[in-house]
Amino acid sequence: MSDFDVLLSEERVARSRSNFDKALRGKNVDALTDLFGSNVFSNKVMKDRLPTATYDALQRTIKLGKPLTLDVANVVAKEMKNWALEKGATHYTHWFHPLTGITAEKHDSFIEPDGDGNVVAELSGKQLIQGEPDASSFPSGGIRATFEARGYTAWDATSPAFLKKDSAGNVTLCIPTAFCSWTGEALDKKTPLLRSMEAVSRQALRVLRALGNKTSNRVTATVGPEQEYFLVDKEYFDERLDLMLTGRTLFGAPAPKGQELEDQYFGAIKDRVSDFMRDLNTELWSMGVMSKTQHNEVAPAQYEMAPFFTTTNVAADHNQLVMETLQKVALRHKLVCLLHEKPYAGVNGSGKHNNWSMATDDGFNLLEPGSTPHDNEQFLLVLSALVMAVDKHADKLRASAANNGNDLRLGANEAPPAIVSIFMGAALTDILQSIAQGTKYAAKGATFLRIGVDSLPDLPMHNTDRNRTSPFAFTGNKFEFRMMPSSASISGANVVLNTIAAEALDYVATRLEKAGKKDVNKEAQKIVKDLINKHGRVIYDGDNYAASWVKEAKKRGLPNITNTVDSIKSMMSTEAEQLFSKYGVLSKTELHSRCEIYFEQYAKKANIEARASIDMVKKQYLPVVMAYAAELAENIKTLKAVSAPSAVQKNILTKISQHLIGASKSLAALEEATGKAHGAGDAEKCAKAYRDSVVPVQNALREDIDALEVLLPADLWPVPSYATMLFKL
Ligand code: ADP
Ligand code: MG
Repeated sequence: MSDFDVLLSEERVARSRSNFDKALRGKNVDALTDLFGSNVFSNKVMKDRLPTATYDALQRTIKLGKPLTLDVANVVAKEMKNWALEKGATHYTHWFHPLTGITAEKHDSFIEPDGDGNVVAELSGKQLIQGEPDASSFPSGGIRATFEARGYTAWDATSPAFLKKDSAGNVTLCIPTAFCSWTGEALDKKTPLLRSMEAVSRQALRVLRALGNKTSNRVTATVGPEQEYFLVDKEYFDERLDLMLTGRTLFGAPAPKGQELEDQYFGAIKDRVSDFMRDLNTELWSMGVMSKTQHNEVAPAQYEMAPFFTTTNVAADHNQLVMETLQKVALRHKLVCLLHEKPYAGVNGSGKHNNWSMATDDGFNLLEPGSTPHDNEQFLLVLSALVMAVDKHADKLRASAANNGNDLRLGANEAPPAIVSIFMGAALTDILQSIAQGTKYAAKGATFLRIGVDSLPDLPMHNTDRNRTSPFAFTGNKFEFRMMPSSASISGANVVLNTIAAEALDYVATRLEKAGKKDVNKEAQKIVKDLINKHGRVIYDGDNYAASWVKEAKKRGLPNITNTVDSIKSMMSTEAEQLFSKYGVLSKTELHSRCEIYFEQYAKKANIEARASIDMVKKQYLPVVMAYAAELAENIKTLKAVSAPSAVQKNILTKISQHLIGASKSLAALEEATGKAHGAGDAEKCAKAYRDSVVPVQNALREDIDALEVLLPADLWPVPSYATMLFKL
């Protein structure tokens, strides 16, 4: 039996457990490290199995972005296939990220006819490099006419191939790929991400060179995404049409207990959940995902996992695997993992914190404050370039975090507001301000802080006040973008981050290059000063949840875009077109087609929610409420007949009747509004109609139904309550 069979056989869980137990007892310290990456065609596997020349050529592609020849691909494909076969694979797939936000795979078996009526197992270099899924059903936002619908997938050698096994035991070799139209337009999430990584590398290197760096050859944007999620017992999930169809509860009166006791966050993890987490980690580790941190989150039944950070591209692929594996493993434990941003009203929702930085290929983090004046100069330049980037393009960052679910979170008192601002921490804010204003820097005594000449005082790194309310916080040696939706791909936000960073670094590099070697320190000082003076308004260290911040932000001229539809619109500006096309990330056509798809997705999701609401009210809630009202009326009649008091019953019946009338009015209004919105015209008009006339009525309908839930006996209510779903786990 191969390692892989052992790992994924029927006894998989039991065996991995005993392996861990051994590892924990120190008897087999290798168990954990052996398991890690055992299903990955990793660097180590390649080094062991590929001829040195092939390995070196492939490394040049992976590390330096050099083109790949077919000869090299042929050798790699053969070894990849052999490795996969040894581990039980029968099929391979080009694994890609269409604009639906989830991953797509079309499996092909390795078999090829040998001309003699038999078969041989094959994977050619060409099959590895390029695929042609019949992808005409994926959203293209009008880019593709049906006659050229096919599109093609192209191997992304920078993200390692891996094996996936389904519960029936089928093993599939997954080859990460980009997905494009035949005319070269991106139809996926990966292509612009790779392009934006190129852009950031090119511009960051120019800055480094201008500052005298001769050793770095590439700069990579790095990401560590923290993933929040809820777990609910499958039995209750199955009884809720809303959870099943939309991923969130569309109705539900609050439970008597919520998160007010603060007894969940970082609390002891229940056995059932830690069993699930152990299983999750086993799967993730085997696929090379560096699952690192796990804990209870703020809301009841809410959790978080965070991997160790890696390159943006691999982080994005891995996050998709994380979301998929969370859901798959949960089912095995008779649980359902909810990735929706707001599964339950009244308690915190879920987000994704995108920790982002840039690192050189020789191992230097560009956001790490240094200990020499030279390192500090570089750090402050990069930092102020990012201040410029975020201030100039706050609307695009905001848009990258927009979806239906996040409309229920951003701006509510649990998630950052819809206003994008930067938290710097007191020490850095002081430093930047004193440079900008040319004033004394208090902590340094009487001197002015001169970039490239003076050292920065030691910053309270990693532990800078962890302002949890800021949407974009500097946390010691990286930025943490905290607005992202829990269910979405992290690609979009990182495309924006990388591109706006590239633009700002381009600006800095151009000025440094113009100044020339001799005056580079002086110019660096001036750049930081100019950038902070011009863009420092985006820095805000206060409480982002406070109402006063909304007013203050308005005074500062910072955009406050409160919903998805307006966010998408802001991505279609001339400024956005120019930004993304200048750095070769998205052409105007690609950008607009994406916005079109996002409008469409918003409208479709809103439509499903509205229809699920209508369905539940008509088929589940109203019949039960009417039956109970009739029963009460009957009771009252009986009580009257024997001259017994019936005031209590009457009182309840009156309240029920009022909400019944309210609900049936809202129901009719919702049916009408949904029909109208559906036919409102183009994608943008439809999206607006859902936002303005469907969502508010749906909310009104919920109010009456939730009020009725409180009035009816628990055993009559047709669906599980909030208390049941949140606390029975
Ligand atoms: P917290 O919840 O305290 O913010 P976590 O430990 O949950 O922190 O997550 C922090 C994330 O930041 C991890 O994924 C970590 O690997 C990542 N990270 C650390 N350094 C960098 C870096 N230089 N670039 C990108 N991500 C980083
Ligand atoms: Mg965390």
